Amino acid sequence: MSKKDFSRRKFISVVSAGSVGMAAAASVPAFGSFSKSNSNAGKLALLGGDPVRRNKSWPDWPYVDEKVVESIEKTTRSGIWCRIQSATGTVPTFEKAYAELMEAKYCVAVGSGTQALHTAVEAMGIGPGDEVITSPYTDPGTIAAILSARALPVLADLDPDSYQLDPADVEKRINENTKAIMPVHMMGQPADLDKFMAMAKRHNLYVIEDACQAHLARHRSKILGNIGNLGCFSFQTSKTISCGEGGAIIGDDEELMDICYTVQNHGTSRKGRTERIGPKYRMNEFEAAILLGQLEGAKERFERRNANANYLSEKLKGFPGIVPQKLYDGTESGSFYLYPMTYNKEYFNDLDRNTFLKVIAAEGVGLSGYIKNGLHKEPWVDTIISQKMYQKMYSPARLRQFKEGMDLPMCDQVCEDMLMLWASGPLLGTKEDMDDVINAIMKIYENRDQLKSLKS
Ligand SMILES: *Cc1c(COP(=O)(O)O)cnc(C)c1O
Repeated sequence: MSKKDFSRRKFISVVSAGSVGMAAAASVPAFGSFSKSNSNAGKLALLGGDPVRRNKSWPDWPYVDEKVVESIEKTTRSGIWCRIQSATGTVPTFEKAYAELMEAKYCVAVGSGTQALHTAVEAMGIGPGDEVITSPYTDPGTIAAILSARALPVLADLDPDSYQLDPADVEKRINENTKAIMPVHMMGQPADLDKFMAMAKRHNLYVIEDACQAHLARHRSKILGNIGNLGCFSFQTSKTISCGEGGAIIGDDEELMDICYTVQNHGTSRKGRTERIGPKYRMNEFEAAILLGQLEGAKERFERRNANANYLSEKLKGFPGIVPQKLYDGTESGSFYLYPMTYNKEYFNDLDRNTFLKVIAAEGVGLSGYIKNGLHKEPWVDTIISQKMYQKMYSPARLRQFKEGMDLPMCDQVCEDMLMLWASGPLLGTKEDMDDVINAIMKIYENRDQLKSLKS
C-alpha cells in the first residue's frame, strides 16, 4: 500500500478490531464515544465544534500519597539528615531497595541524573583528551556530565523512527581517543543495545547507559542500566520515579561501583581516605525518603503505563498519519516516561505540526513537541572550541572536524515531526483517557478538510 492509498476504511478496520464499545458508535466505529451524541461532533473544536474531551483531568504528577509523607516525617524525626551519619539511614536503605528493584548488585545514590552520569564518567577515568559519543536528542545533563569531566561529547545522528542514537552513525565517529559510548534510552524505551554492546566489544569501549528516563524497562530480560558497564538514573520531578532532584548509578562491578561512591563523596572512599578527584554529589536523606515512600507502587505504575502505551500503539497500528516510536528487537517493556509519535503532515492536509497541536488541544487532548533543537544547535559547541582549555586538549583539526560533525539532519527532522503524550502522569490514566487521545486524533483525521482553513 503506497502512502497515498491509505483509506479511512482501511484504518477503521484496523482500529476497530477487538475494540470494545463499537456497537454504540456504529456510524463512525473508530470514534467510540465521540461521534454519536451531538450534531456538532463533526466540527473541529478549534472551529467551534464540541471537543472530544472536556471537564476531565489527567492523573497528577509527581506522585504523592500518605506513605510518601510518612516516610519524610520519619526521616525528619530521626535526626539523621545526612547519609554519612548512619550506615542504616535513609539513603543507604534506599540504595539497597533500588538495587533490588532494578535487579542490580550495587547502587550509589546521588543528587541528580546529571551527577550520576558525571560520576560514572569520572569513575571510568575519562577526562581531558578523551571522547564520549552520545545523542544530540537528550536532556542537556547528558553532555554536561561529559563536559564536567572536561572530555569531548561527540554527537551522532538519530534513527528517525525510534528517536534513538543510530549505531551506524556512532561507529563512524569512533577514533583512538574514544573511551565510551553513552546511549540514551529515549522516552524510557531501550536504545539499540544489541548493536551498541557488540560495537563496544569490537572497539574496547565502555558503555554508560543514560537510563535517566528508563526506570524498570527491560531489554532481553534484563532491566535497563544493567546491560552496559554502568547505568544512570534521574529522579527529577518529571521522571517516573521522582523526588524533585535526585539520581542513582547501578552496576554489578564492585570495584567500579566503589570508585563511584568515592567520586561522589568528594573523592573520599568508604574507608574514609581522600583518594581521588570528585565533587560532592551525595543524595540527601529527604530525597531518599520521598523515593523510599513511593518504590512500593512503582512497579504497578510502570505496568499501567506499559498497558496504556500498548493500547495506544495497538489503536494506531496501520495508521500512517501518526506513527508510534519504533521499538528495537529485544524490547520487552519501556518506562514510557513519554509516549512519542511521529506526525506525518501529508495525512493531515499538510498542516504543520505546531498548528496540529493547537487543533488537538482544542479537542481537550494536550499533546506537545519535545526537544526544540538538538544539542548540536546549542551555543556550547562554539563555546568549547573557542576555549583555551579545549584548544590545549584537542588539535585544531580535531576541533574543526568536531564542529563539522554537528550536521545531524535526522535529529533536526525528529525535532520537527515528533509529538508526544507527556506520560509520567497522563499514561497512568484510564482506558477511557486513552480512547480520548485516539478519538481526538481520528476526529481530526476524518475532518482533515477543515484543516485547510487553518493553514498558515
Ligand atoms: C532527566 C535526564 C537527565 C538529567 O537528569 P537530572 O536529574 O535532571 O540531572 C539526563 N538524561 C536524560 C535522558 C534525562 O531525561
